[in-house]
Amino acid sequence: MDIVLPGDDYPARKAVKSWLANHPDPSPREFAESGYVAPHWPNPWGLGASAMDQLVIDEELKKASVRRPQNRIGIGWAGPTIIYAGSEEQKERYLLPMLAGEEIWCQLFSEPDSGSDLASLSTRAVKDGDEWVVTGQKIWTTYAHEAKFGILLARTDPNVPKHEGISYFICPMDSPGVKIEPIIDMTGQHAFNQVFLDDVRLPAANLVGEVNKGWSLAKVTLGNERVSLSGEGALWGDGPNAEALVDLVRRSGVSISPVLRYGLVKVWMEGEILRLLRMRQLAATLAGQQPGPEASVRKAMGDVHGKHLMDMAKDIAGAYGMLGDAGPLDGIKGELGVGAWAGEGGLAWISLIWSLGYLYSCALTIGGGTTEVQHNIVAERILGLPKDIDVEAGKTWAESRQSR
Ligand SMILES: Cc1cc2nc3c(=O)[nH]c(=O)nc-3n(C[C@H](O)[C@H](O)[C@H](O)COP(=O)(O)OP(=O)(O)OC[C@H]3O[C@@H](n4cnc5c(N)ncnc54)[C@H](O)[C@@H]3O)c2cc1C
Repeated sequence: MDIVLPGDDYPARKAVKSWLANHPDPSPREFAESGYVAPHWPNPWGLGASAMDQLVIDEELKKASVRRPQNRIGIGWAGPTIIYAGSEEQKERYLLPMLAGEEIWCQLFSEPDSGSDLASLSTRAVKDGDEWVVTGQKIWTTYAHEAKFGILLARTDPNVPKHEGISYFICPMDSPGVKIEPIIDMTGQHAFNQVFLDDVRLPAANLVGEVNKGWSLAKVTLGNERVSLSGEGALWGDGPNAEALVDLVRRSGVSISPVLRYGLVKVWMEGEILRLLRMRQLAATLAGQQPGPEASVRKAMGDVHGKHLMDMAKDIAGAYGMLGDAGPLDGIKGELGVGAWAGEGGLAWISLIWSLGYLYSCALTIGGGTTEVQHNIVAERILGLPKDIDVEAGKTWAESRQSR
């Protein structure tokens, strides 16, 4: 199953080709001003592009080897929320430098005691004249050490049900009282941080949307996802996929054991099912249909598949798998240069070779909602099973577990 894209006469194709002819090596600013960084965003920041237009634009940019400015959390999360609920001043101030990658953003949501049950967060924001005074601790904050701004969730009313007392702020990361401490993950990379907020004063203008309505904003991004044909990698769309592992084994000419061969075929079949689900989802979007259950099923299955694939690569590597710089089959590891599989969308900061992929794959079933939580979503919203005890009881999952 493949998606066939329209030819040379298609207006979006003609337009992007003509822009590329005039800007063969666009600066990040030119890119941002053209609308081609996030063409699905509305004008003037994007082009209000349809799903098909987005795919065609991606294809032409790829053909021209032109890479978009990078700002994963800004463009993926913060921008769509500001477009949805931000003031005109906020849109004017933040969106263009965000699209140009001039100002990097991070996401100050998770706390040491609030991850899956994010609405239980305890960072407080108290109004003081024209300012909000924020105190609390955030954790797992990717890019906090590089970011100019963070999107921040804080409790503004502790006396109402937990989802109803949260507000959404823009926090300049160089504000007095913001302290950032690195967390080195098991790949050896520094991407995460702990962020301590100690009487951080934010201007009232940094509130996004209305006071105490932050919870609904935290969920806005989902409906704004960019449509893309790339992103077949097993590490959240980046990195190598099952086909790449099979290809490696095929080209090496090495005969692997029947057990490994069986496992490899199983992993490849998982990958193929996921690819077909993705194509089906894309075809439905192109036909203007509402997203079905495929997205939740794909997220739950895809994260586990990423781990299976990386485990399989280590098993095939045998004793070489103990070496950090060796691929699944040492004989052709030279082909797998550092960053060789870094996709367009990011993870460029991580050296995507198999060993790092193996270590990184442990994050897949945690970040962006754990696999257990995804299963709850599938159970409740797709299969109509009784609700998770957390929602029923208004308790944290840990409290519920203790009282069972
Ligand atoms: C690579 C990566 C990048 C991240 N980047 C950011 C970032 O930039 N900003 C940010 O704010 N956060 C970030 N996070 C944090 C991430 O959002 C949380 O780790 C995630 O939401 C899980 O929360 P937790 O770690 O507190 O685990 P917990 O919620 O404490 O979960 C612990 C275990 O309990 C299980 N569990 C919890 N609730 C239920 C339930 N209801 N039913 C069944 N099982 C349950 C979980 O599945 C898990 O196995 C990142 C995480 C990763 C891995």
